[in-house]
Amino acid sequence: MTKTVRTAREPERSAEMVTALRAAGLRLTQQRLAVCQALANDKSHPTAQALYARLRQRYVTLSRATVYNTLQTLVEAGLVFELGTAGDGALHYDADPSPHVNLVCTRCHRIEDFAQAPLGAVARTVAAGSGYELRGARVVYYGLCPRCRRNGQHGRMAGAASLVR
Ligand SMILES: [Zn+2]
Repeated sequence: MTKTVRTAREPERSAEMVTALRAAGLRLTQQRLAVCQALANDKSHPTAQALYARLRQRYVTLSRATVYNTLQTLVEAGLVFELGTAGDGALHYDADPSPHVNLVCTRCHRIEDFAQAPLGAVARTVAAGSGYELRGARVVYYGLCPRCRRNGQHGRMAGAASLVR
């Protein structure tokens, strides 16, 4: 039985994050706590800038540096995953540790979760074949979302062939 799945719910997840910040020696301020809570409840795969803009409305003393160093610490602790860019030049973050596929639309830059992929089977194959104790995974597919496919004249990314024919 591989232990690749952690299914902490939001309050537990933000408590885990707080523990990680303490362990990293960061002072636990209201602002850092707010970043943890926001991440634990966020399904939008926000960028650091989006998190900052949203939290800044409530925490006027919040700085960009606090958002960045909190995110960085959580990434290093394995509680938040860096998803890379969504074609918008900014890193997106995901705090959901359960195995799922991320779908990235390269036109409108949305990132959605897709939970119905058999990733557990893939993880078991990888763990058995590599000898690794797996701690997490990111599976990202890039393409055009249904809305952009409907709105675009062509249903494919320019210069890229469809992965599935
Ligand atoms: Zn789209």
